[in-house]
Amino acid sequence: MAAGEPVAPGATSTPPGDSTRFLISDLCSELEAYLEPGEVEEVYRAYLLGAESHEGQTRKTGEPYIYHPLAVARTMAEMRMDHQAISAAILHDVMEDTATSKDRIHAEFGEEVAELVDGVSKLTHLQFQSKAEAQAENFRKMMLAITRDIRVILIKLADRLHNMRTLGVMRPDKRRRIAKETLEIYAPIAQRLGMNAMRRELEELGFSAKHPWRAAVLERAVHRAGGNRREPMRNIEQAICSRMETAGIVGRISGREKSLYSIYRKMRDKRHSFEEVFDVFAIRIIVDDIDTCYRSLGLVHNLYKPVPGRFKDYIAIPKSNGYQSLHTILFGPQGIPIEIQIRSTEMDRVAESGIAAHWQYKAGSESSRTAQSRARDWLKDVLEIQNSVGNSIEFLENVKVDLFPDEVYTFTPGGDILVLPRDATPIDFAYAVHSDVGNRCVAAKIDRQLAPLSVRLQSGQTVEIVTSPGARPNPAWLSFVVTGKARTGIRHCLKSMQSEEARTLGERLLEKALETLDSHLSHISPARLDQMLDAMQLEDLDALLIDIGLGNRMATLVARQMVGKDSPEPDTTAATTTLAVKGTEGLVLSYARCCHPIPGDPIIGQLSAGRGLVVHRENCRNVLHESRERSDRTIALEWSHEPQLQFTAAVRTRTANRRGALADMAAVIADHGSNIEHISFNEQDGHSTAMTFLLTVSDRQHLAQIMRGLRRLPDVLRISRQRG
Ligand code: MN
Repeated sequence: MAAGEPVAPGATSTPPGDSTRFLISDLCSELEAYLEPGEVEEVYRAYLLGAESHEGQTRKTGEPYIYHPLAVARTMAEMRMDHQAISAAILHDVMEDTATSKDRIHAEFGEEVAELVDGVSKLTHLQFQSKAEAQAENFRKMMLAITRDIRVILIKLADRLHNMRTLGVMRPDKRRRIAKETLEIYAPIAQRLGMNAMRRELEELGFSAKHPWRAAVLERAVHRAGGNRREPMRNIEQAICSRMETAGIVGRISGREKSLYSIYRKMRDKRHSFEEVFDVFAIRIIVDDIDTCYRSLGLVHNLYKPVPGRFKDYIAIPKSNGYQSLHTILFGPQGIPIEIQIRSTEMDRVAESGIAAHWQYKAGSESSRTAQSRARDWLKDVLEIQNSVGNSIEFLENVKVDLFPDEVYTFTPGGDILVLPRDATPIDFAYAVHSDVGNRCVAAKIDRQLAPLSVRLQSGQTVEIVTSPGARPNPAWLSFVVTGKARTGIRHCLKSMQSEEARTLGERLLEKALETLDSHLSHISPARLDQMLDAMQLEDLDALLIDIGLGNRMATLVARQMVGKDSPEPDTTAATTTLAVKGTEGLVLSYARCCHPIPGDPIIGQLSAGRGLVVHRENCRNVLHESRERSDRTIALEWSHEPQLQFTAAVRTRTANRRGALADMAAVIADHGSNIEHISFNEQDGHSTAMTFLLTVSDRQHLAQIMRGLRRLPDVLRISRQRG
């Protein structure tokens, strides 16, 4: 049995002030313990590029710059990270501070290392400036959202750790600002990822830099009180040790020094005096397995009386970041309370390094796994722990959303954070600020550069909306906005416009759309125009222009029809189906087979060469994918009010295996005036069969009636509409 602090990644590096420098040779010998020789060699090559790039640069401490990235790499090596992450750690500042480009890193070290370095550089650009606590939470989410590879966050944390360790050379005001950011952003991220060793050190360094005076006072108090404690502390440790030996339990016992920041926080938050917080002995017991944890608990409860109501079983009910341990408080000799933590070696590893524990090198096949899959593994592990106790929802809300976000986090010019759904555009941003800002929006600047209004925003961008008093929303915006607020705002404003204004606007939009097709309104023959107006059942050109100006028709679609880009001779099927969707007369229109849209569904159109306009459901995965790549090709559509047509909907069912079950279902479907176009059998087990029906329906209401009817059948176990 050995007393002493267990080794924790991120906590064992040379403390500041230590004059021995950590050299590349030291790093390599550390890496040789767990990497292949070829991988260590690659890290060495990264070092050569790093040293070359930072040649001549020094840090504020006066030493050559390369010692900083080396120190960051060291922390990563202590976490047993893979060689790509170590190489990226060495190169993490070169894109930012030197002439070395991403392309060069890509050429020499491959895509993975280049992406990691690029990711760290992107985070470096983020500036947290807001004061509000809620904003800090959003900023933390933003950092995680911006990062596709969680290793980027780990490098950033290691980077921040070394900057904090060498913070002494900075100007006091700068020191305080960096310390505040560390306490509000970086330490909580480390905590959320379960990296407690990292979190503790960031907090300690952050506290003494932000509140140097308070830290000094506390430290003196701890020092004064500490002298009297050493003797009783040793006695208690001894007593527990010998009890465990007698019981044949193998384990490690260590006295824990409370960190200054945790003492400070307890005094501040719980309004305890220093004595109340500090006059507690803290001991950690680490044993081999869960069983022994509980046996050890019984043993210490037998040695000293436990304080009633203070026992916590975080093994059976883990904390939301996966932390597991038994906590109890005992009445020690002379009534001094003793805080005890008991956990297994594995729990201790997870408690100290969290998500990083999942990179700790395992030989062979493990090395080929992707970073994302490791992050998922970690989530899965923690989820499994959570599931067994049923508080997984809280955990999911806290962590999963952060790692795989559906939202983008953007800044206003004032530094406030605005959260928008994925694929949001500057127009969505403008309406999120205020509907007046949206209505008067004329241009947008992203990170101080003018950008198209239809561009998809990315997390971390600063968006500035340029407004003009006379400006009006553009109906074309409807084709790319994603928030309901923007859509409603645009429609509302357009409706209130006078028809004359609408005509002028419609003309301008149409001319612009024709221009992109190398045409002009005056080039369109009167015959062609009449033919179109006829087909659209409009009186004259003005009516068409007003329609466009009001946003009822897409200028781009009308323009294409005018120059005959789509459907030169409208065939009969197109002529009937076009009635269903507003503003698409004369276009070749088809309904996507992936999602089977029916009237009542929110829909979106996708222009495709040779197939005209394909109508998808708005939430169809295929469109979501496509629209990210080619946002200019999708158009928001609306059903017209008089569709009297048959559409196809796909319905999935699970049905008990009983003779006649299918016949019952077919009867219900027929009773509701629908036809079965197709049935496919997906899979079958001993009890039930999964099937997909293609049914003819007139709209959503009709479909809902059929599904309700089917659901009433006793053999139908499950039924749902199929998503795209
Ligand atoms: Mn750095």
